[in-house]
Order: sequence, then C-alpha cells, then structure tokens
Amino acid sequence: MAFIFSGDDVCQVTTPTPIPAPYWVAFSPSSANLIGIELDESGLPVDKEWLGVLSGNQLNTSDRQFPNPIATVYSGHQFGVWAGQLGDGRAILLGDIADQELQLKGAGITRFSRMGDGRAVLRSSIREFLCSEAMYALGIPTTRALSVVGSDLPVRRETLETAAVCARLAPSFLRIGHFEHFASLDDVDRLRGFADYLIQYHYPDSQNADEPYLSLFQEICTRNARLVAQWQAVGFCHGVLNSDNISVLGLTMDYGPFGFLDQFQIDHICNHSDQGGRYAYHRQPQIMHWNMACLASAMIPLLADKSDEALAQDLLRSALEQFPVIYAQTWQSLFRRKLGFTTSQEGDIALIERLLQAMHDSKVDFTNFFRSLGKLRICEAISQNSLRDEFIDRESIDQWFVDYTERLKAESCPDEVRQHAMNQINPKYILRNHLAQTAIEKAQEKDFSEVTKLLQILSKPFDEQSEHEAYSMAPPPNAQAVEVSCSS
Ligand code: AMP
Ligand code: MG
Ligand code: MG
Repeated sequence: MAFIFSGDDVCQVTTPTPIPAPYWVAFSPSSANLIGIELDESGLPVDKEWLGVLSGNQLNTSDRQFPNPIATVYSGHQFGVWAGQLGDGRAILLGDIADQELQLKGAGITRFSRMGDGRAVLRSSIREFLCSEAMYALGIPTTRALSVVGSDLPVRRETLETAAVCARLAPSFLRIGHFEHFASLDDVDRLRGFADYLIQYHYPDSQNADEPYLSLFQEICTRNARLVAQWQAVGFCHGVLNSDNISVLGLTMDYGPFGFLDQFQIDHICNHSDQGGRYAYHRQPQIMHWNMACLASAMIPLLADKSDEALAQDLLRSALEQFPVIYAQTWQSLFRRKLGFTTSQEGDIALIERLLQAMHDSKVDFTNFFRSLGKLRICEAISQNSLRDEFIDRESIDQWFVDYTERLKAESCPDEVRQHAMNQINPKYILRNHLAQTAIEKAQEKDFSEVTKLLQILSKPFDEQSEHEAYSMAPPPNAQAVEVSCSS
C-alpha cells in the first residue's frame, strides 16, 4: 500500500465526496493500458463502473475494490518560506493497481484541506491531464493522468466554474514535503520508517550501500537534477516548485500554472502569481537544488543516528554539491543532442550558449527553432537559410551558423541521419498555452473533442503530423497573453 503509516495525524482514511451527474471529459488509453483497464471501440472502459470510481462516487468496479482510500499529511516550503503542515487537501489515494497508485485530484475535502474546498476546476484538470500525458510522450518522468471526469457542480474561483476530478497514476505520490513533515516534528522514528519504506519499494539498490540513507538522498537528488535538465531542454516551466510539489521519485508532479516556452525568454515566468519570478525558467535548476537542500536538512537525523550531527551534515552537503554537476552533465548532453552533436567537443557549450543568448535577444520560438534546425544542410549557403530571418542581429547569427556548420562537419554525419536524430529530441508538438486554452474553452461548452484531439497529437510529439501542422505553430499574437495563476 502506498502509505505505511496509520494514525489520524498522518493519514486519514476517507472516502471521496461524490459529484452530481458525472461525465467523461478526457480519458487516456495509454494510461489505462498501464493498469490493465479494458477499453471499448470508443476508447473508454468496457466496465461502465469506472466512471463512478473515477468521479469519486463509488469505490468498486465490477471486479475491483478500493476499500481504503486515504489522504496523507505533508509539510513544505512554499515560495521559499516554511509553510508548516499541508497535506492531500483535495487528492485522495484510492489504492494500488498494477504497481501504480491511483489518486483522484479534486475529490472533496479531507482533514488536510485547511481553507480549501477540496475541489479542482475543469480548466486546471484538463491542463493537468494533457500536460501529464504530453510529458510522458516527451520521455520526461512524470505522474500520469488517466481521466478527467466533469460535473456541473459549481466551484468558486475568481469566477464561478465547474468541478472536475482528475485521476492520476504514479508508482508513488510521495514528496520531499513528507520528509520535511516528520523532520519538523522531530519524529525520527517515522522519518526513518518513511525512508526505509522508500528504500524497500523504490530504491532497493540503496539497501546495499554503505550508508543507505545517504545513498537514498543521492538517488533522489540525481533523479531531480536530471529531471530539471529535461524540463530546460523542452522549455517546460513548472510554475510552483515548492518542496511539497517535488516528487521523491524525480517525477514531474502537481501541474498547476505550468507553461511551455513559446518565445525563448530565459527569465520567463509562467505563473502570473509568481511576481518575483522565483520559479522563472532560468531559476528552475537552482530552485530544485534548493529543494534538495531542504531534503538534506530533513534527512540529517537519519544519518546523525549513526554518527554525530556534524558528520551527517558534511556527508549530505558533499552529496548536495553533486546536484549542479549532474544537472550540468545532463543539460549539456541534451543540448548537444538538440544541436545534432553525437560527440562532445571543446567549444560546444560556448556554441550552445551563444545560440540561446541570440534566441533570447530575438525572442525566437524555442520549439520551432530547434525542430527547424534539423533541416539545415551543411553545404547550403548561409544566405539561403531561412532560420536567420528569425534573428534581429543577422551578422552575429550568420557567424553563429558558420561556426555551427563547421562544428557539424566534425561529426561526419549525413544531413538526413542527423535530422532524424534531432527529430527524436526536438519535439514538433508541445502543449502550448493557447492550444490548451482553446480545448478548455470548448470543454466548458461541453465539447470535449479538442481535448481528445490534443491528447492524440501530443502523444506523438516527435512525429511529423502533416494534417496537424497548425498545432505546431507559434501562437498568433492575440493568443500570446494567456495568463495562468495558482488558482485551480
Ligand atoms: P498546490 O499549491 O496546488 O501545490 O497546493 C498546496 C496545498 O494546498 C496542498 O496541500 C493542496 O492539497 C492544498 N490545496 C490546493 N487547492 C486546494 C483546494 N481547492 N482544496 C483543498 N486543498 C487545496
Ligand atoms: Mg501541490
Ligand atoms: Mg497544485
């Protein structure tokens, strides 16, 4: 089972609050496949009881029961400040199914709801659903989304909206905030029990390490360092990198006011509520590192148990110093691949950085530029290269293309082969805000076809889908200002 603790203070056994007259909004066949749900020709579960289960209205299908749904406590740092106790305020874990935990987000209030209503609105549920599945298809570790079920139940946010329940899947939804919770209470027994649980079920290799808890820490850091490098490489901005939104498995989780870069702006802030830009694109790596420091602090008592506290701190600090190293290695390797380099050569990083600076200065579309870069032919004259037209400072970008072409020659790779490889890392289709917005607005009118269509397109982000060319375009000027806040 997902959570090892009993006791009302850390884990509440609770049932979802039903929603009136639920209906399917979105369903992911690929996620269903992961947990063995049989589907009919329309791509929905053969067993109609699933609609009831995934809306939170019942706890069994024809052949499956979820007798002990739970909500767990966690704490965390929000926007850099200790926020104290939080917890699953609107997410209820139904149970395990084929190595995955099945969780309903927006399933009603729990003991940890604080002032919240326990609900999620249709808008944010569709965004979470689409982005989870899009990230998965991009090859980026993430919690998955199985479905969105809607209801006409009114939910008050800035305006009156309607409720939805998003069913999510993950091997575990545990967060850095769980560690922080037990550490903040000086509850070393539960802290250790929690770490032991993670080692046993999710990090078995750490069991054999000299210092299993240190190894656990290193593994969590490594996964999250690689994760954030993968975000940077597709231009994904999470939006709320609070420590309670950081997975202990290195998964992207808790999709709220996230956004993919359209124009490359290094300091892009996707979350309208993040006025100081704490979670801006270029700050994500350092913020993830900061979150790992929170984890290190929380884990001190585990290591100090066997030695003294100063030594524990030293060990964790040295491990933490590896974060930027692992991040940089991953980032460099991903950006080399984005540029079509299969080898690593001196000067590569400078070349990549010059390009990114030029893209920033000229606000070039991040996704489309890299995708188009694959079309470059080495023997082509620079003047024929239409990509240069995207840049304001032509002289300097022409020089960049000269240097880039020179560098490509060192690869001795045929143009077509390089383009093929680049197309495996530079997606053509990402979940741009304006695309999500169009799908949401139709869904609010009860037309869910656009959600389904986007799911299908985004599930093959690296394929040329000529019939869907329009979905790869940069947003039209009037669609650029979709504002996304924490409200969800
Ligand atoms: P978030 O900023 O979305 O990561 O949420 C932070 C905390 O607020 C978590 O403990 C959530 O469970 C809780 N929360 C967010 N929205 C609601 C809501 N509508 N009702 C109850 N709790 C919520
Ligand atoms: Mg959260
Ligand atoms: Mg959230």
